[in-house]
Amino acid sequence: MCGFCDASNLTRRGLLTGALAVSAAAALPLSPAWAQSPAPAPNAISPDEALKRLQEGNARYAANTSTNKDFSAGRIARASAQYPFASLVSCADSRVAPELAFDQGPGELFVVRVAGNFVNEEGLASLEYGVVVLNSPLIMVLGHSDCGAVNATMKAMQDGKTLPGHLPSLVDAIRPAVVAAQAKKPADLLAEATAENVRLNVKYLAGAKPLISDLVAAGKLKIVGAVYDIASGRVMPV
Ligand SMILES: [Zn+2]
Repeated sequence: MCGFCDASNLTRRGLLTGALAVSAAAALPLSPAWAQSPAPAPNAISPDEALKRLQEGNARYAANTSTNKDFSAGRIARASAQYPFASLVSCADSRVAPELAFDQGPGELFVVRVAGNFVNEEGLASLEYGVVVLNSPLIMVLGHSDCGAVNATMKAMQDGKTLPGHLPSLVDAIRPAVVAAQAKKPADLLAEATAENVRLNVKYLAGAKPLISDLVAAGKLKIVGAVYDIASGRVMPV
């Protein structure tokens, strides 16, 4: 069953009546396979527990002791439902693979990927689906070292040149982070711009009304920022 098929019903009901369903219980009609069970969904954990799960998974990955290797396990169960315990905004960079970096299997992470890991309108809508309908208690904005999108934005700004095709849309989205980083006069502008890009998008998400901001205010959702170091495989908070 396609969860998105019922998302429009939730949106209509929620936005038109003003009584948005934000809890697993309220989402009962959308997830009949598990909602009728008295047992809590596997992702019904606190934001802090979700973050701890990511941190522990990354520690395993960085130490090359990943445990998620049998990807056929749980396939039948996943065919009818998904319970991602964390949502992520990640870069499209081929060297950054969230499921691997956090040692998680299919169904565990709800990931929005775009070059430069920023949140656009469609990305925001996707995350709203992840946290409101799928009840993911955590969003992580994940930047990374040696980000080509951030680097290209810096170069385009420095050279005063317009990139070809649709690439200027990436520059427009990332430019505020580079400007913020330049003001700090850092030794490593790329690293600082990457961190600022994460911070700005965390801030944007935290204030994204009405869905995500309400969940954050209620303590049901936490939004954190981090940067993945390609060389070490380690994820560090920013
Ligand atoms: Zn990147």
